[in-house]
Parts: sequence; structure tokens; C-alpha cells
Amino acid sequence: MTGTLTGALQHGKYSEGTIAPMKLRKKMMRRALGSLLWTLILIALAAYPASRFGVFKWPREYDPFSVPDLRAKPNFLTHWQMKLVDAEPRNCTAAFAIVGSPITLKPTQGADTSCEVSGAVTLGKLSSARLAPEDTRCAIAARLYMWEHHLLQPAAQRILGEPIAEILHFGSFSCRTMRQRSSMSEHATANAFDISGFRTASGKIITVKSDWDKTTKEGKFLHAAHDGLCDWFNLTLSPDYNADHADHFHVDMGWWRSCR
Ligand SMILES: [Zn+2]
Repeated sequence: MTGTLTGALQHGKYSEGTIAPMKLRKKMMRRALGSLLWTLILIALAAYPASRFGVFKWPREYDPFSVPDLRAKPNFLTHWQMKLVDAEPRNCTAAFAIVGSPITLKPTQGADTSCEVSGAVTLGKLSSARLAPEDTRCAIAARLYMWEHHLLQPAAQRILGEPIAEILHFGSFSCRTMRQRSSMSEHATANAFDISGFRTASGKIITVKSDWDKTTKEGKFLHAAHDGLCDWFNLTLSPDYNADHADHFHVDMGWWRSCR
């Protein structure tokens, strides 16, 4: 008995000498991390109101109540900030003003009809690529800007070795129903855009119709462009969806979400 008791005590001493301090260290580490996290949260809670009074500048890209800087690298808050742009046309024009591309809201057209267009702008240029001027909802213009600046131009440099000078398109507004359906198309409210191709800086033309199915670098570029559109629009349709889209990418901000 004594021998067993002594052994147990020895075992107990052994545990206290090595395992228990390790547990203690882990516990202290967890507490320290917890304290650090709470300190950071408290600093943020105090600093944010201070930034609103101009005490210091809170970075726009980390401000959930600010419209996005369309040129800033997207982060976990960007899609939230884009919802502010979608919700209020003046937020959208403010976002364009921030990047030095002032854009003017047009008066509402077709009020109280199924083809009412509000919050529209004339879009003729994104961050560097031009396009034939087209009236579209400002929210669509802002999302095209994000896509062109953060995905399209880098992909063009990487895959084609040159930037895109012009985005070719079939337009935004068209007062019509969806093909083979009775409900109105998102085009009826200029809440959609049809992209047919691209012209590179050296003048090369790449079209969805001719290059989509090719295994060339142009085909690879079109697939990268399409996948990038899916990041910014609720609905993106390509030639892979159906024959109606054999020659363009359709994007819109309607309720239906899909990337086809
Ligand atoms: Zn379309």
C-alpha cells in the first residue's frame, strides 16, 4: 500500500513538475490573446467615432459606412460597400468621384412603366478601357469598373501581354421581356449589360463569338474575364449557358444568382 501511495505521490509530483506548467502556459497564452483581442476591439470602438470627428483618418476600405474606393484592392468589406453603391445612386456617383471619374446621374426615364430606368449614367470609360458610351444603371457601371480594374486588366497583361483598350458591347437598356418568357428582362431597367468582346492596346479584336471555344490565349483570356464577372454580378451568362448567349456575356444585378 505504502509503495503504491508513494508511487502515486511521485506520479503526482511528476505531473506537477512538467504537464501542469504546460497547461498553465497554454491557459496564460489564451488569456493574453483574449486580452489583446479585447484591447484591439475597444481601441477600434473608440477610434472609429474619433475618426468621424476628423481626429484621424480611418482607412476607407475598412469603413463599413463608406462607399468603396473603386481602385482599392478588394477586401472582406468591399462587397458590403458595393451594396451601399447598389442601394443609392448618389453613393454610386460619389464612388466614381473618389477615383477622379465624375459621372452624372440622368433623370428617371419611363416612370411608372415596366421599363422605368432610374439612377442611370452614361458610361464611356472604366479605369482605363473605353467603351462606346452607353446608358446603364450606375450600380452596373461601378461593378464593371471593379471587374475591369481588378481582374480584366491584370488578366489581359498576364495572358495577352498587353492591356485592354476597349470593351465591346451590345448595350444595357432594352425594353423587352426575357427571351421565350413573359417576365421582363433586367435589360428593361438597364440593370444588365451585354459584353461581346475586347480590343487590345495593339488593336487585336477578341470576340466571345469567335474565341470562346478556342484553346488559344484569347480563349483563355475570355474564360478569365467571364469568371471575374461572376465575382461582381448576381447573374453571369456565357455561350456555355445557351445559344442566345453565343456571342456575348450577359451580366445583371437581378434576383437570380448564377454563373454559367
Ligand atoms: Zn443581356
